[in-house]
Amino acid sequence: MTLEPAKPFPNLEVPAEDEYLYCIRCGACLYTCPTYRESRRETDSPRGRIFLARKLLEGHVPLGANLTEQMYRCLACGACNVACPVGNEPADIALQLRWLAQQAEPAKWKELVFHKVLASPGLMEAGTIPLRMYQLLGFRAVANALRLTSLLPRQLRDMERQLPRIPAKTARSQIPAVTEPMGVQRARVGFFLGCAQNLLLSEGSQASVRVLARNGNQVVTPRAVQCCGMPAIGYGDWDALRAFARYNIELFEKLDADVIVTDCATCGSTLKEYGHYLSGDQQWAERAADFSSRVRDVSEYLASIELTKPSGRVEARVTYHDPCHLVRAQEVSSQPRELLRMIDGLEFVEMQEADWCCGSAGTQIITHYETSMAVLDKKMANAAATQPDYIASGCPGCQMQLTVGCKRTGLRARVVHPVQLLDRAYRDSG
Ligand code: SF4
Ligand code: SF4
Repeated sequence: MTLEPAKPFPNLEVPAEDEYLYCIRCGACLYTCPTYRESRRETDSPRGRIFLARKLLEGHVPLGANLTEQMYRCLACGACNVACPVGNEPADIALQLRWLAQQAEPAKWKELVFHKVLASPGLMEAGTIPLRMYQLLGFRAVANALRLTSLLPRQLRDMERQLPRIPAKTARSQIPAVTEPMGVQRARVGFFLGCAQNLLLSEGSQASVRVLARNGNQVVTPRAVQCCGMPAIGYGDWDALRAFARYNIELFEKLDADVIVTDCATCGSTLKEYGHYLSGDQQWAERAADFSSRVRDVSEYLASIELTKPSGRVEARVTYHDPCHLVRAQEVSSQPRELLRMIDGLEFVEMQEADWCCGSAGTQIITHYETSMAVLDKKMANAAATQPDYIASGCPGCQMQLTVGCKRTGLRARVVHPVQLLDRAYRDSG
């Protein structure tokens, strides 16, 4: 007699059995996992998360707060996916279980955040006004000069440190709708401006557009772009992700671009997955697959074309941190290094464990502060050993986390996007 496993979620979409059943418990994933390295708890490991998923989906344990919390402790760094010899993807399972939890019990705040605020560039910009005022009216400078921030609880102090120097104007208001190429046009690029780049790190995207144009690309930057959808995936709201995807696909189809480029690793990894997330939607599957096939990270794209060598110099020692969403989600790691090595005067120094997660993972500094900082402190020890003037990284989340790390450890290094250094070398060329 064959026993049918229980079906605890008959009305919900659940991960397919072959995605969680075949863990052979070899442990190869354990020592790649940043959360396991910190806690040494099995439930905090990829193998433990797979085990919990299996117990849940076979009906042996409930979908309660404890189990969901283990899935939210995962940094979704993807290191375990690469390490597993039988092809399990524990990182994806953790995200799928967050989605299952959301389907079973939708959280109301997500409706507001993902379906309204992140869907409106104007609302998001309005949301950062208090932060802008805090900085532009000098409150931040005064608080730092008087060391008032040292009176804050540690977590709030580190969250304050995470804020970059917020630009007076958003990238959306600075980057022209169309930037004409220098010299002969070789391609028409649709530039996907991510939310964090737009609001907090606009210098990075302005540099990306300049470098693209400098190398013969006409750059079209749509202002009405919406969030890529990664925050929604991280919090299990795949309906919101699919809404963002349909909107952005339609927007970029109108541009008639040869390629879609972004300088945010997180956005790029999500845009490249639109085809996957909409594969079950007959009306959108083909359009989404076409869209995703044309997406490139800015370093990936620049390394694939014939670049003009900058004649300016950047006399600095630079190390590089691989964002998880670039090195594993997009398998882009040599290209940013190639760009940095093009720059005369720049001394590139590889750090140990450059491809280990920095502990950012979106909002972990808020939701799982202790683990996030423990993972960051290891990253900073490796970065500091290279004695860098700059730490380069192509993800705004990583950049902000590394900025906290520099302030926590007193490391006097600037955190930048690699393309910013390339841009500087071009601009110094005259
Ligand atoms: S994605 Fe990263 S944090 Fe999550 S289980 Fe895998 S290795 Fe650990
Ligand atoms: S590496 Fe794969 S098979 Fe081995 S314990 Fe981890 S998830 Fe299971």
